[in-house]
Amino acid sequence: SSAPAAAAAAATEEPIQPPVDVKYTKLLINGNFVDAASGRTFATVDPRTGDVIAHVAEGDAEDINRAVAAARRAFDEGPWPRMTAYERCRVLLRFADLIEQHAEEIAALETWDGGKTLEQTRGMEVPMVARYMRYYAGWADKIHGLVVPADGPHHVQVLHEPIGVAGQIIPWNFPLLMFAWKVGPALACGNAVVLKTAEQTPLSALFVASLLHEAGLPEGVLNVVSGFGPTAGAALCSHMGVDKLAFTGSTGTGKIVLELAARSNLKPVTLELGGKSPFIVMDDADVDQAVELAHRALFFNQGQCCCAGSRTFVHERVYDEFVEKSKARALNRVVGDPFRRGVEQGPQIDGEQFKKILRYVQSGVDSGATLVAGGDRAGSRGFYIQPTVFADVKDEMKIAQEEIFGPVQTILKFSTVEEVVRRANDSPYGLAAGVFTQRLDAANTMARALRVGTVWVNTYDVFDAAVPFGGYKMSGVGREKGVYSLRNYLQTKAVVTPIKDAAWL
Ligand code: NAD
Repeated sequence: SSAPAAAAAAATEEPIQPPVDVKYTKLLINGNFVDAASGRTFATVDPRTGDVIAHVAEGDAEDINRAVAAARRAFDEGPWPRMTAYERCRVLLRFADLIEQHAEEIAALETWDGGKTLEQTRGMEVPMVARYMRYYAGWADKIHGLVVPADGPHHVQVLHEPIGVAGQIIPWNFPLLMFAWKVGPALACGNAVVLKTAEQTPLSALFVASLLHEAGLPEGVLNVVSGFGPTAGAALCSHMGVDKLAFTGSTGTGKIVLELAARSNLKPVTLELGGKSPFIVMDDADVDQAVELAHRALFFNQGQCCCAGSRTFVHERVYDEFVEKSKARALNRVVGDPFRRGVEQGPQIDGEQFKKILRYVQSGVDSGATLVAGGDRAGSRGFYIQPTVFADVKDEMKIAQEEIFGPVQTILKFSTVEEVVRRANDSPYGLAAGVFTQRLDAANTMARALRVGTVWVNTYDVFDAAVPFGGYKMSGVGREKGVYSLRNYLQTKAVVTPIKDAAWL
């Protein structure tokens, strides 16, 4: 087998005991941790072993009703939208401080529940959550309306008001970051929130929500309901008491969310969905650098990224060298217990994704792509998969069209800029793209021609707080992050009054 040595180690060594206890497993409704109305629980599983970490309260429609009622009260009668913007800003700043104070615990919980490496959760994700929260805290007291000119003796104010109760549904691949992207702007604008976490990863949101209350968030402003999509998730989408929905997940589910919103109260919806993002390597590229960047663009987070660079397009003049070096890099990738230092790749999130990825690998082989590395599970327990590379991939193959959401790189050959732009755009998705070249003219041409929400030139996966993120085409509706995220959580009201004896108009 071509499994890296460390992958074998993952199977034979005892899993490292996570340095954290699970403190919160109940639903957070109106400031209290409570059991589900049905009394039911579900298991959240350690992807390293398949063992149960904890049983978590399983919210369904009844709990969504309770959570929305609490959020409505908090918004309609509570202090949060009525306190000064500076006071809201300070709550969010204190929350960011508490995130940093509890960074080790939060990172360990996220690694345990989701299989991400501790180096990633501790070194990148937890600090980013604090960063995003400070960014939105900074906006809280800078959101304001404007006065616009009238055609007669009228005073016209345009007010930017909080939209009300926001329903938010997040996926399992970045539970903490998706919490920050969604809860941050909603709270900065003065809204109340009901958050539905993914059933695979309920733990970190409950923990940080408790910190948000410690930071001074009034009860009912943030409610967290763990549970499944067709029950809790659908109930939130259909609820008449929810004023806005934000969803991140698969394109198929996004369509359901939009339909449920339309059939109930026409609540506005923002969607962050899937992708099949091209990573384009031109013939002038430093091949070693291009190989490393393309490798990271795909394999980061076990390949479980909506914006994974999952179609590696390589110019014919550097193609053979690129494939050889990508193979070597994949074989060197360190797979193992995500708590272990130096490990680059942990397990996939669960058995379902694990099986789905291996089915895609089989489909790649069956359709005639060349398997140059990996292709099998790593070890014999848990959900580890070998870093896998396919070469000679053709556009019409399933592995070049559908989102694999795993550590499977597909390499395709091209000859001209015009050709690669056409092929890159020939996808129902349009989330992101990478362009690797020293030629400014080629980079500029491609950056404008690619029908995607983000183009990274000679870099990838840069997620600064102020930069908008979202998809063209079936990759989504609307934008998150940056000033753009605030628009999702504000209503616009015009107030017109006559002015007597106006000195000016
Ligand atoms: P998913 O769509 O099945 O689940 C996402 C969330 O939706 C979960 O909380 C789930 O419980 C909920 N859900 C499922 N069915 C529902 C329903 N009928 N009504 C309401 N809610 C429902 O996706 P997944 O497979 O868990 O997550 C991976 C997908 O998410 C990938 O396709 C990936 O591309 C996408 N994703 C996109 C982004 C982005 O920003 N564009 C970010 C992360 C993940």
